[in-house]
Amino acid sequence: MNMKKGIPVVISGPSGCGKGTIVKELLKKYPETFALSVSATTRSPRVGEEHGREYYFITKEEFERRIAANEILEYTTYVGNYYGTPKKELYERTEQGINVILEIEIEGGMNIRKLCPEAVLVFILPPSAKILEARLRGRGTNTDEDIKNRMTRAKEEILYAEKYDYVVINEEGGVEKAAEEIAEIVRAEQKKAARNKGIADRFFEE
Ligand code: 5GP
Repeated sequence: MNMKKGIPVVISGPSGCGKGTIVKELLKKYPETFALSVSATTRSPRVGEEHGREYYFITKEEFERRIAANEILEYTTYVGNYYGTPKKELYERTEQGINVILEIEIEGGMNIRKLCPEAVLVFILPPSAKILEARLRGRGTNTDEDIKNRMTRAKEEILYAEKYDYVVINEEGGVEKAAEEIAEIVRAEQKKAARNKGIADRFFEE
């Protein structure tokens, strides 16, 4: 018997916690059941990033037009740029039974909780603040000023971990394990009775 709709899965955690790598692993392992919600942003692409893959890189004017046209489910400003979730793609995919990952910051996660009560919220934690800073430096694409801002923001953000539904720790070398933990969480969520209303009727129909 088929469990119908896909689940929006919010993945948050401080910049440098490894959520991008974990999400890539999850998509590689489960390409048919997980897809990524590609956000729109006004920040410039980093080396290796592609329009339509990591983000839709658009201008401030275009972003503001989309907000006004109600095409953005939620958005925020982060270190001077807009970031937001396009609405249409998200709902088209969950209707098709695909779990859609939203890799967004806390304020966005909290907004999704209100706008989309069926979403599951997962917080990714690095093993420690020291390791987080080392990871940000190792990335080599952020300036000292940017790293300082991201560490300050991380300290504020980590306080919100408890407001999420689940916490997953990204241990050193633990990307696969963290990705599998998220897959397990989603599998369990799909089996919740509350997400399977009407299952008794379908049982007798099939
Ligand atoms: P970065 O510049 O490192 O790619 O992203 C900066 C922050 O913006 C990250 O914490 C990321 O999760 C968040 N972010 C990316 N897309 C969205 C979005 O669509 N909405 C919200 N609220 N935050 C986003």
